[in-house]
Amino acid sequence: MQVIRERARPSQADIARATGLSRTTVHSLIGELKAEGRVVELNGGPEGRSSGRPGVRLALRDAARAAIGIDFGHSHVAVAVSDLARNIIAERRADLDVNHLATEALDTSACMAEEAMAEAGVTHASVVGVGIGIPGPVDRARGTAGSATILPGWVGIRIADAVEERLRLPVAIENDANLGALAEMTWGAGRGCSNFAYVKAATGIGAGIVIDGRLLHGVSGTAGEIGHTTLDESGALCYCGNRGCLETVASGPAIIRLVADGAQEPPTLAAVIERALSGDVRCRRAIADAGSEMGVAVAGLCNLINPERVIVGGLLSRAGELVLGPLRTSLERHAVQAAAERVEVVAAEFVERSELLGAVALALQRTAPSAINA
Ligand SMILES: [Zn+2]
Repeated sequence: MQVIRERARPSQADIARATGLSRTTVHSLIGELKAEGRVVELNGGPEGRSSGRPGVRLALRDAARAAIGIDFGHSHVAVAVSDLARNIIAERRADLDVNHLATEALDTSACMAEEAMAEAGVTHASVVGVGIGIPGPVDRARGTAGSATILPGWVGIRIADAVEERLRLPVAIENDANLGALAEMTWGAGRGCSNFAYVKAATGIGAGIVIDGRLLHGVSGTAGEIGHTTLDESGALCYCGNRGCLETVASGPAIIRLVADGAQEPPTLAAVIERALSGDVRCRRAIADAGSEMGVAVAGLCNLINPERVIVGGLLSRAGELVLGPLRTSLERHAVQAAAERVEVVAAEFVERSELLGAVALALQRTAPSAINA
């Protein structure tokens, strides 16, 4: 049962290989477990089909049920299906102008979810729920995008209702930073941790705050907007309308501005990180300073919530110690000693798939909290 729990839908042959037991022994043990209703056979599945062998896949009974995650990025839609044992069993991704083509993105996501369910051999009846991620603030009460500037084509659309209508399944919705926190809590650097902050540092900077194992939302869902912490009251004007926000000095665009020298085609954040990692002193300095500035805001957060861990995710976390080192130093300088001493600053395990995995974790959590804490 342990092998079945830990591996994504193994066949009897896989179990024989993993345990060193003979195929005959495995066959008779599986027969017993099936008779007791503890293990079930699944029809199809990605591995079974592609390998060409029938190799019936096995799952623990609870794992025969599934959860679906849908990630709407600015220019892609991704879908994943997971069993309740948290194995991702099917995944789909499509490039699309999500920002402007809301209806098309919703239709595409529903088609992809149906396809992924078919591939995974999962029926509607066995799906416990759908988690959705959007790249911006979420009005959770209405299930809409909370900011028209971030997703211009989505104004007024009740996203959760729209997906629910198409898939006829219960739906929950979250923003990208909160999903990053859920992904890390379920599969990554937040495992076994019930008080932590996940800081997503990319084009914007936001945090997902987990207190006693639960996401903190706040009264209007803006908890964790750490990117708009005021660092300098007379600093540059931020798009939020305030001055000297963390994002004006440490976001992706702020870092790019520093090193671009007014170039016609400024580099992407990924390119700046790459140059820094290969030794470019100016890129290194720009990223280090962003880390220091983030440390000031994160110190304030640590003083308030006294987390066990700060997990840094988003594209900027690809810079590793170049950003984490200065962040730690600045955090130690600005936080109260008791909070700074106890907090561990680590890089996230997921960058590109963090929203998608988080959406799956959201579906798992909303519908079966025990599956997450097991
Ligand atoms: Zn701001």
